[in-house]
Amino acid sequence: MTAKKVPTSKEVTNATFALLEERGVSVLDIAEIVYDLQIPYHPNLTIQQCAESVERVLQKREIQHALLVGIELDKLAEQNMLSEPLQSIVEQDEGLFGVDETIALGAVLTYGSIAVTTFGYLDKVKVGIIERLDSKKEKSVNTFLDDLIASVASSAASRLAHRQRDEQERLREENTTQ
Ligand code: MG
Repeated sequence: MTAKKVPTSKEVTNATFALLEERGVSVLDIAEIVYDLQIPYHPNLTIQQCAESVERVLQKREIQHALLVGIELDKLAEQNMLSEPLQSIVEQDEGLFGVDETIALGAVLTYGSIAVTTFGYLDKVKVGIIERLDSKKEKSVNTFLDDLIASVASSAASRLAHRQRDEQERLREENTTQ
């Protein structure tokens, strides 16, 4: 086997964004989930801030790798190209199959416990684009994608929560030193 060159970060990033677009998921779709999660805590939050947080999360290599693996498996299952019994398991999103959640959960770990608990919540309530992917059953397979979107959204929400706290503390410090 001839050695292939290692893909650059830019190539992996571009591939990640292209795959999401191909699967019908926009940054705004994910930002809407983040907004709903965070607005109770930060009334001045804007959808743009949420979209920016999603963009930043999508730059993370752990998240990109998880998306590449999961979406690839969804696509192969859609094309009937996996070996049995995995083909049937992924295609039918078999109830006891948890590898989709495991990969998605692994990807949120860099964003700490808020990301982990939010991921668990989104896995249960399935809102917005997650719900739309989950119910779009006909021919498309989104067994991995729905969990991966929950992973990106919970990471982006956790990132915002930490940043908002930093910002509040910075403002408070500024006020006390003035
Ligand atoms: Mg799933």
